[in-house]
Amino acid sequence: MMEEIFTPSGTSPLEAHSDCHSHGGGKGGEAAPHPETAPSGSRRKTGRGLWVASKSWLLRFLAFFGIYASSSVCPFCGSPGCPVGAGGAAVIGGTLAFLWQYGLDIIKKGRGVILRIIETSKGGFMLLQKIDHHEIFRPKCDSTKEVLHSIARFEADISPVFPYLNAELGGWDYDQKNQVLLLKLSAGKWITLHAHEIAIRGARDIEESEALLKWIQSQINEIYERREEIVPRYTSQAGLKVMEILKLTPMTNCKACGYATCMAYAAALREGETSIQDCPPLWEEKYREKREKLQAYLESYGWRALDAA
Ligand code: SF4
Repeated sequence: MMEEIFTPSGTSPLEAHSDCHSHGGGKGGEAAPHPETAPSGSRRKTGRGLWVASKSWLLRFLAFFGIYASSSVCPFCGSPGCPVGAGGAAVIGGTLAFLWQYGLDIIKKGRGVILRIIETSKGGFMLLQKIDHHEIFRPKCDSTKEVLHSIARFEADISPVFPYLNAELGGWDYDQKNQVLLLKLSAGKWITLHAHEIAIRGARDIEESEALLKWIQSQINEIYERREEIVPRYTSQAGLKVMEILKLTPMTNCKACGYATCMAYAAALREGETSIQDCPPLWEEKYREKREKLQAYLESYGWRALDAA
């Protein structure tokens, strides 16, 4: 049910607004980030990921170096085992190991860059260029009358970008069959994307509602343009199980995280309202295995904290 419709409009692109800070929310009442300055990149590579990458590069390097060094002679003196020849084998081995490990990524990124150049030279391509109608309203069921909802409609089909948005922005729920993607932001704001419609819930005023629409429109276009470089994700955070998370906490109910029990912490973690860093015991050496398993479990569902959305 709707009432108090504010801006039935057909304008696009939407006007930019400089003030889009929330009133704050979540644990500790921290201010939510401005949507246009919120990070949109993939997760940073962990220290463990770097260690694994270095180890596999080293193994490949040793293999290539060994093969080359054992079957070649120095190009200058013609003798096997010469230090100059060994140095050359090290350079060639290192280069081959690097190409083996990252060659496909380099080709893929290069292809993405070339495609972008072609699209730009043709005048650019935007998946969602024009919003046909943006209706902002106050929900009848909201007795506090402190939040606004809005619906934007358009002709373009934005569903092809959903798996990439899900990967980059950490979708809360992705229904691939019906092509619906739900993004949860901090302070109770939600953005639900359908093929021809975007619903925004929980904006505090018209300016924020329009700024959120402008932000998600820019994310849709920017991420779709970079899709060749992104691994699409079809799972979502909603698949996380509280009990699975609980099993990977220290289960001491020490309250150091600010929650009364590990169960309460696990439930909040699933919602993205807290993070692994907020459980100090988890960072003790004796819980390292649990922590690593928990990190892997969360990442396998594209988990991210609400204030990073
Ligand atoms: S700090 Fe960790 S161990 Fe302590 S109650 Fe919170 S989740 Fe449980």
